[in-house]
Amino acid sequence: MDCIFCKLQKGEIPSEIVFENDKVVVFKDINPLAKVHLLVIPREHILNVNEIEPKNAEIMGEMFLAAKKAAEISGIAQSGYRTIINSGADAGQEVGHIHLHIMGGEKLGFLN
Ligand code: 5GP
Ligand code: ZN
Repeated sequence: MDCIFCKLQKGEIPSEIVFENDKVVVFKDINPLAKVHLLVIPREHILNVNEIEPKNAEIMGEMFLAAKKAAEISGIAQSGYRTIINSGADAGQEVGHIHLHIMGGEKLGFLN
C-alpha cells in the first residue's frame, strides 16, 4: 500500500518527530497552519474516523495520550491548543491515514 504516513511511521520518509512510542508517532506538519502544528498518527493504518472499529478503541486513546504529551513537550499545554481529525472530502482530508492535528502556540481563529 502506498501510504505516505505508513512510510513516515517506518522512517522511510523523513519527519521531525516530537514524540513516539510503539503505537503512535507525533511529528511536525510539513505545512504548518499555526505556530505549533503537529500530527499524531497510529502506526497501524486506519483510513479515517469512518473506519474506526471497536478493536481500535485503545489506539484512539493512545493518540490522545500522545497529543497530551506532545503538547507538554512543545510548551503549549498551558496556553492551549486545538485537536482536529478530518474525515473525508468535505473536511478536506488529504492523507488517507487517520491523523490528529494539534494546533497552538498562538491565539487561533475559529474554523469554518
Ligand atoms: P488533512 O488535510 O489530511 O487533515 O491533513 C494532512 C496534513 O498532512 C496536512 O496538514 C499536510 O501539511 C500534512 N502532510 C502531508 N504530507 C506530509 C509529509 O510528508 N510530512 C509531514 N510532516 N506532513 C505532511
Ligand atoms: Zn497508512
